[in-house]
Amino acid sequence: MRKTLVAANWKMHGTKAFAEQLLAELNSGLESGSCSSQVVICPPFPYLGVVADKIGQAQLGAQNLSEQPSGAFTGEVSAEMLKDCGAHYVIVGHSERRSLYGESSQLVAAKFAAAKSAGLIPMLCVGESLEQRESGNTLEVVAKQIQAVVALGLEDCWESAVIAYEPVWAIGTGKTATPEQAQEVHQFIRQQLGEDGDKVQILYGGSVKAGNAAELFAKPDIDGALVGGASLKAEEFIQICRAAD
Ligand code: PEP
Repeated sequence: MRKTLVAANWKMHGTKAFAEQLLAELNSGLESGSCSSQVVICPPFPYLGVVADKIGQAQLGAQNLSEQPSGAFTGEVSAEMLKDCGAHYVIVGHSERRSLYGESSQLVAAKFAAAKSAGLIPMLCVGESLEQRESGNTLEVVAKQIQAVVALGLEDCWESAVIAYEPVWAIGTGKTATPEQAQEVHQFIRQQLGEDGDKVQILYGGSVKAGNAAELFAKPDIDGALVGGASLKAEEFIQICRAAD
């Protein structure tokens, strides 16, 4: 039986004071009622320590990492450094990294491998653009993004790994995939993972809110959500966590 997981991607929002306040509100909300879902909070890099110190029952994640273990890579952050700061998870291949920073599927796969070799759980983001969906290429695009990781031939590749299906056209746009659209892709992803498919948590991401979470989570292959905008409002995010329970 897969556990449900809800992850907050705070992106590049807020200040130290905002992070502290939001975390305090999340902690009191999560503590005030039982929450059986795993909750992961991914703050901006500078606030990893602030969040780690008061994380409560959630777990810490980062939004990105270097594919390199260490060295002269100005501005980069390694997997070991993230672990050292208390992170358990790291997002890899978010569509904003792929589209705005030119991360190829090969680079994303190298980051996935770097995370795993340091003992971090990678949250691999995959998903199609609107154009790719409208031209009927969704499954092909997603399969190629997953294949780039499979091609590395990592031992126990999908053990301790999470996949987030995030259609690019649904991220930060207010447009959500219908539960049926999401379920179709989630089921396909599970098939792509072969015998590991049943074990891997597959999250949906793309304008998840308190109002649409329950119907998405009701689908058999949707194990939770990666939440951007709505994770910046404690009450809204807590309602999403409760919907996943
Ligand atoms: C995300 O950034 O991963 C995301 C899903 O954002 P939003 O929930 O705002 O669409």
